[in-house]
Amino acid sequence: MATLTMKFGGTSVGSADAMQQVAEIVRRAYDDGHRVLVVSSAMGGVTNMLIEGARTAAAGDASRYQVLAATLRTMHETPIRTLLQSEVERIALHDEIDALLDEFETLCYGIYVLREASPKAMDKVCSLGERMCVPLISALLRQRGIPSMTLSASYLIVTDDQFQNAGVCFEETEAAVRREVLPLLNKRVVPVVTGFIGATRDGVITTLGRSGSDYSAALLGAYVDSDGVIIWTDVDGVMTADPRVVPDARVIPMLSYGEVGEMAYFGAKVLHSKTVQPLIERNIPVRVKNTFNPDFEGTLITHRSETSPVTVKAVTAIRDVSLVTVAGRGMIGVPGIAARTFAAVAKQHANVLMISQSSSEQSICFVVPQDKAAAVVQAIEFELATEFGRQDIERTWADDNVEIITVVGAGMRARPGVAARVFGAMGDADVNILAIAQGASDYCLSMVIDAEATETAVRQIHGLILLNGYGSNGHKPEAITLETS
Ligand code: ASP
Ligand code: MG
Repeated sequence: MATLTMKFGGTSVGSADAMQQVAEIVRRAYDDGHRVLVVSSAMGGVTNMLIEGARTAAAGDASRYQVLAATLRTMHETPIRTLLQSEVERIALHDEIDALLDEFETLCYGIYVLREASPKAMDKVCSLGERMCVPLISALLRQRGIPSMTLSASYLIVTDDQFQNAGVCFEETEAAVRREVLPLLNKRVVPVVTGFIGATRDGVITTLGRSGSDYSAALLGAYVDSDGVIIWTDVDGVMTADPRVVPDARVIPMLSYGEVGEMAYFGAKVLHSKTVQPLIERNIPVRVKNTFNPDFEGTLITHRSETSPVTVKAVTAIRDVSLVTVAGRGMIGVPGIAARTFAAVAKQHANVLMISQSSSEQSICFVVPQDKAAAVVQAIEFELATEFGRQDIERTWADDNVEIITVVGAGMRARPGVAARVFGAMGDADVNILAIAQGASDYCLSMVIDAEATETAVRQIHGLILLNGYGSNGHKPEAITLETS
C-alpha cells in the first residue's frame, strides 16, 4: 500500500467528461489499496476568466464580470447536473458554487468602485477557481463509494505576503499538513485539496503564482511522505520540445530533478518551476502522465540522471524576456558594480534568468521578464547615478526583442563537443547568438537570440535530439493544448 499524491491540471478537470476520467483514475488507485491525496487546479480557463473579471472591473467596466460570472456558473453547474445522482449532493454543491460566485461579484464590484485590483485582491479573486472545482471532484469520488472531503489549502499552505507569487513557510506548512491531512489518509479518506492557493499566518489568501498547483502538490506530497507524486496533465509527459513548434516532439521517458527544474525555469510549461524542490531531499519520484491516456507511462522524474545515448534531451524557449545591458569603460576593475546592479534588480522583484559579463568587464548583461524590464532599467539608473554622472557607466538599456533558448541534458558540461554541436546547428541555420550562459548548472546551456529566430533555432536543435532516436511516442492527440486554467 502506497501513499500517492495526484495533481490534476485545468484540462484534466475541464469538463464533465474529464472529471469522470479523473474520478476513475482515483478510484482505480484507491481500489488497489493505495492512500490517495488529490490536489486540483481550477477548471481549464477559469483562472483566466477570474482575472479578466477583476481587470475589466478595475478599468471601469461594471458588466463584464457579471457576464463572466454567468459563464462560470454554467461551466460548474453542467457537471453538477449531469454527473451527480444524489439530489442532496446536487443542492449542496449548487449552493457552494453560488456562494463563491457571489463572492466573485462582490469582490469585482469592490474593485470596480475603487478602480483598483491590488495583488491582494487579485489573489482572493483567483483563489475562487480552485475553490469551485474541488467540491465537484470530491462529490464524484463519494458517488463512487470513496470516502472523500475537500480541504482548502488556505488552512494548510502557510505563506508570506508576497501576493500573486507567495513564498512558502515550510515548517509551518509541514506541521499543518501533517496535522490535518495525515489522519484523513490513515482513515482511508481521500482529501481533495485546492491547488495554487495558500494563506498568510493571518489567514489572508495568497497564490503561489500561475500554474502553482504543481508546487502545491509537491509540498503536500512531500509532507505526507508520499511514495510518489503524479502530475496528471493533458499531454503524454514531458516533451523534448514544444509540440506546437516541433511537430515530431517526443516524450522523454526519464529525467532527473535537476533537468526538470531547469526546463521548468526555462519556459517548458510542464511543471511549475519550484515543483521539484520539496521532493528532492525526500527522494520522492514524480510521474507526469496524461489523464486522457492513463495507461501510457509518461515521464518519470527521479534523482537519477539517466546517462542516455544523448546528452541533449530537450530544448525549450522562454518568451517575453528582455536583455538588459549595463555598459561603460569605467566599470573595469571597480568592485561592487555587479552587486549594486543586482541589488537594484532584486528590489524590483525581477527574477534574473541568466547573466553574462564580458571578459573585458565593459558590460554586464542579464535577462529579466519583459514586464519588469523598464522598472529594472530605471532602478539601475537610480542606483548607479553617481557612476553615470562620472561617465564610468555610459548606458543601460533593455532589448525586448529577444528570447532564451535552453538546451537541457544532464552531464553536458562533462561532455566535450556538445556546445560545438549546438552552436554548429545554430550557425547552419543562420541564427545569431547574442549571449550565452553555461555552467551555472550541469544541466543546461542557454542562449539569447533574436525573437524572430526562435522557431528555427528550436527546430534545428531538436534535430540533434532526433538524430539519436531519443524519446518515445505516446499517442498523438489531434490537438495538443498546453494547460493553463
Ligand atoms: N489555476 C491556476 C492557474 O491557472 C493554477 C494551476 O492551474 O496550476 O494558474
Ligand atoms: Mg500546469
